[in-house]
Amino acid sequence: MLRIILLGPPGAGKGTQASRISEKYNIPHISTGDIFRKNVKEETALGLKVKEYMNKGSLVPDDLTIQLIEDRLSADDCKNGFLLDGFPRTVYQAEQFDKYLSERNLSIDHVLDIDVKKEELLTRLIGRRVCRNCGATYHVINMPPEKEGVCDVCGGELYQRADDTEATVENRIEVYLAQTKPLIDYYEKSGVISHIDGATGLENVFNDIVDVLGA
Ligand code: AMP
Repeated sequence: MLRIILLGPPGAGKGTQASRISEKYNIPHISTGDIFRKNVKEETALGLKVKEYMNKGSLVPDDLTIQLIEDRLSADDCKNGFLLDGFPRTVYQAEQFDKYLSERNLSIDHVLDIDVKKEELLTRLIGRRVCRNCGATYHVINMPPEKEGVCDVCGGELYQRADDTEATVENRIEVYLAQTKPLIDYYEKSGVISHIDGATGLENVFNDIVDVLGA
């Protein structure tokens, strides 16, 4: 049983590490960003509400986000743990989430804070490309696919997220610093947080995470 929160700025590699953690420990990877993006793509009522916030790189209102996560966590596959990627993102979300957990006699086992310097984040985000089909991520310079624009894993089309453009990325990092970074202090008090250097390469970052979670 593992309940994990992944913290860190946009571009720190949370999504990539989350896929690997989810596979190794057999817990669902729950990314609020992925769920919102799916809703935007399918033009659901929720998607229409959140699209503008996302495109600007601002946060979706807390009440929508908290409702979404509570619905998702009530699914059967979360009974034996879960990995949250992109939630909570504000102190208010964290407080509400703590209430939700304590009402159910649950607690978080680990908060993993993956950090990377701002200049590196900008380069990573602006060059990031994602497979429309399977979600695999690439980088135009650091990790290009074999064939430009085509996913090595599934042959799907690679695209640039609407919020990975130069104009939006700066704002997302500012939003992180102002609204999400304070969560590090919040979780420091509960004693479950570990700090991981996100700039050491994919394998090393994953090994550091496994050292914390246990093999
Ligand atoms: P991500 O894929 O985690 O970078 O999230 C992409 C976008 O989805 C963010 O820039 C926000 O607009 C929105 N989003 C994702 N998670 C949250 C959250 N916990 N609270 C508010 N907005 C969120």
